[in-house]
Amino acid sequence: MDSMPNLKRPWFASLNAKTRIRLRTTLFASADYAVNVLILFGFAAAGTVSYGIPLKILAIGLVFNAIFLSGIASGFTQRLRDPSMTAIQLLAACGINLLGLLLAPQIAYMFIVNLFVPLSYGSLHFQQRMFLAAWIFLSCALGAAMLTIGEHANIALATPVERLLFWIVMVIALGRFLAINAEVARLRAGLQNKNDQLGAMTARLADLASRDELTGLWNRREFMRLLQDESRRAVRSRSNFCVALIDIDHFKQVNDRFGHLVGDAVLHELAQLLETMRRATDSVARYGGEEFTLLLVGPKLSTATVALERIRNQVAQHNWESAASGLQLTISAGIAGWQPGETMLQVLDRADGALYEAKNAGRNCVRVASV
Ligand code: GH3
Ligand code: MG
Ligand code: MG
Repeated sequence: MDSMPNLKRPWFASLNAKTRIRLRTTLFASADYAVNVLILFGFAAAGTVSYGIPLKILAIGLVFNAIFLSGIASGFTQRLRDPSMTAIQLLAACGINLLGLLLAPQIAYMFIVNLFVPLSYGSLHFQQRMFLAAWIFLSCALGAAMLTIGEHANIALATPVERLLFWIVMVIALGRFLAINAEVARLRAGLQNKNDQLGAMTARLADLASRDELTGLWNRREFMRLLQDESRRAVRSRSNFCVALIDIDHFKQVNDRFGHLVGDAVLHELAQLLETMRRATDSVARYGGEEFTLLLVGPKLSTATVALERIRNQVAQHNWESAASGLQLTISAGIAGWQPGETMLQVLDRADGALYEAKNAGRNCVRVASV
């Protein structure tokens, strides 16, 4: 009852996209071939060659094109390693032009010019080895053909019609050449586009892998990498850096009182606060849980301690009402100045010791690690 009228779809609509592209390319090549046959008929009409020449080339072309088109359209060539049959089509096109050279040496230029078209098209798809093989093979075949036709090779330009046909051959050859170049430019632009997309995606993935999901700050792994980089730079340029470990005081109580989601929001807000308070050259990361790390590049330990004291004070003064009404939050911090020869873990361990001291001293304070 609700059956759709049986719409008649054109037969090519059932082909897959790749087959349709292959078929279209081969049809273009067939049309191009037909143009060449027409020009040859023109030469026959002008009396330059006999009518047998375009007829032979037409007959050969019909056979080859029928094989290629039916092979691709039927899906038979999908079983082949090269479903477009690029290499075979190319070989056939070159072979027919060489045959034309032998049959009609008085218009040798037309077949020689036409050799460039399949070759340049093929070079878009060939591997370097295949391209070299085609070049060597064709050079030999062309040499043999030139030897065979000897002094009969000519550029028939005696009559106005021959000169007109010469011009047409050249115009068409130039058109094909430009079309192939346009195809190269299109392929290259597509490739460049894909490369750009890939580069952007890789950068995005790398950034995602180095960020903490909840706060958007660098994660612990990225912080260790930054620390490693900084220590190498410090060794090279005899500069200095400090590491601070920051821990929220009684954060468990925040979770217990306001819930885990509010705890998350507080972590996020504190992360933003630390981000805005750090200097441009410094880095802040979420070390894990409710602990953060700060890498301070360049300053003496005493200056870094003042900076950290300022951060501690601002956190204590911060209005947390938007996260939870009545919430008060403080942080404790331990800071250590890197000593030449010290490993990353050693300097972090000293900062951790200082943080422990800050907690023991009653929290909401900064302690400096001894050397
Ligand atoms: P102290 O002052 O000694 O540091 O006390 P504290 O309660 O902050 O420390 P403790 O180590 O006892 O508890 C840390 C709490 O932080 C416990 C844990 O549930 C909470 N926490 C860790 N990571 C997250 C998180 O991603 N989200 C939330 N909401 N809570 C977290
Ligand atoms: Mg902790
Ligand atoms: Mg804590």
